[in-house]
Amino acid sequence: WTLGGDDDDLAGALSGPVRVRVPAKINLHLGVGPLRSDGYHELHTVYHAISVYDEVTARAGDTLSLTMQGEGVGELELDDSNLVIRAAHALAATAKVPAHARLHLRKTIPLAGGLAGGSADAAATLVALDALWGTGLGRDELARVAATLGSDVPFLLYGGTALGTGHGEAVSPVLARANRWHWVVAFADGGLSTPQVYGELDRMRAAGTAPAPLNSSDDLLSALRQRDPAVLGAALGNDLQAAALSLRPALADTLDVGDKAGALASLVSGSGPTCVFLARDEAHGADLAQALRESGLCRGVQQAYGAVHGARIG
Ligand code: ATP
Repeated sequence: WTLGGDDDDLAGALSGPVRVRVPAKINLHLGVGPLRSDGYHELHTVYHAISVYDEVTARAGDTLSLTMQGEGVGELELDDSNLVIRAAHALAATAKVPAHARLHLRKTIPLAGGLAGGSADAAATLVALDALWGTGLGRDELARVAATLGSDVPFLLYGGTALGTGHGEAVSPVLARANRWHWVVAFADGGLSTPQVYGELDRMRAAGTAPAPLNSSDDLLSALRQRDPAVLGAALGNDLQAAALSLRPALADTLDVGDKAGALASLVSGSGPTCVFLARDEAHGADLAQALRESGLCRGVQQAYGAVHGARIG
């Protein structure tokens, strides 16, 4: 695993601008354990970084400021609640430097889409400001700061395919073949709140209406060591899917379009409402994307591949 691009980029403060590209994540396996007394669910997940990107650019400044373009303009606050600003403050506090920078966020990852866009932006900000400020923090320290910002943030520093445990913040790389997996990503109108989706799963489990929880990720991990996308497709699973479908029943129609068009797997990404479809190859992905577009059920459809690197300069 490499972090933040070439080591040269990280030696000493840069005058900027520093531009960092960061991917979205999907969960190839999302096993949700019971609710713990601390309010968290114990997770066992396999993260996978795909080629749908946000970009954070950092320039030297006298104060801390944030501008943005793309997905979520007008909806996403640019104040202290924004994960970009929170990441800047967290890094400045750890590195004991003033939190001064001019930041610009270019978003293509939809808000509250189940693709961890906010976490991705936090990871990108850490990498950009680490370079701009020349903090000299090692990757483990950066990952520790990342974990204070959100469960998915450490993974998005690294990217690739990785196992996440705890609440998802404890990540370790998965031994996988250097395969390129082809995906189609279908964006929906509006987001789904992650806490609400977990709440719905708890409700369904208490009422006995939730499907049986996933088994271990062993089949998935073995599929990742093979080359056959059909084997991978059969091993994908998401315990949050039933809850996302319960809150947004129309997503079942989107999944159906993928199934009927021959997707090797159709599933909700994380807490949804984004749906992802596994294709045999790029051409098959183009066919799936066309069927999904023609269905008129999706706000947008994009082909993507994985696994890709995490937050990186350049
Ligand atoms: P996850 O799967 O990690 O729960 P998600 O993909 O469903 O996330 P995000 O877009 O990552 O959803 O963010 C969820 C919420 O976080 C947003 O609704 C927004 O209120 C808040 N947020 C704060 N900063 C950001 C940011 N830079 N980008 C997106 N959301 C942000």
